[in-house]
Amino acid sequence: MTVHVLDHPFARHKVGLLRDAATGSKLFGEVAGELAGLLAYEACRDLTTGTIQVDTWVGHLEVPHLEARTITLAPVLRAGLGMLAGVRHLLPGASVSVLGMRRDEETLLPEAYYENIAPRVTGSTVLLLDPMLATGGTAVAAVELLERARPASIRGLFLIAAPEGVEALASAHPDCAIWTAALDDRLNEKGYILPGLGDAGDRLFGTRR
Ligand code: URA
Repeated sequence: MTVHVLDHPFARHKVGLLRDAATGSKLFGEVAGELAGLLAYEACRDLTTGTIQVDTWVGHLEVPHLEARTITLAPVLRAGLGMLAGVRHLLPGASVSVLGMRRDEETLLPEAYYENIAPRVTGSTVLLLDPMLATGGTAVAAVELLERARPASIRGLFLIAAPEGVEALASAHPDCAIWTAALDDRLNEKGYILPGLGDAGDRLFGTRR
């Protein structure tokens, strides 16, 4: 599995803002979206463009055209929603497939409680959106679910990743590629990324007690 870590001062700065506990949910959401846009920008670098004819001020011209219909954005509820607007800003024509994943209390394995997979996923490039690649359990299950729709490729976009999650995803889905803005140190005993940024969903939606 190829792991791309964004190496850019914008990305480093924005990750710092997300880590800052003083960053409130409004700014946190804005920065998460911006960072997600930067990840998508890099993750789509190799996509091929076709051409379309347009009328310009000097007559007809063939111009490059990216068929956004061949791209699907797949946010994982709920924290993945914080990345969606930033990516849609760049790819407004992409379809959106929403996945709700939770841990089964008996098996402790992730299971889908909601899945709304767009018909266009078949043959498309899927950008899986989840802010945190922690244990990797959710990402592994989400990729399995999406693979049933036979996309051309699945690219995981994570704001922050832990080595444990990268290893789990790489061993379950070696064909996947991921983009992250930070590869952190490790997980704590509760499965939170260190240093990470805390609970991404709580930070985004202001639900921390
Ligand atoms: N999910 C989060 O929101 N944060 C972590 O650190 C790990 C998983």
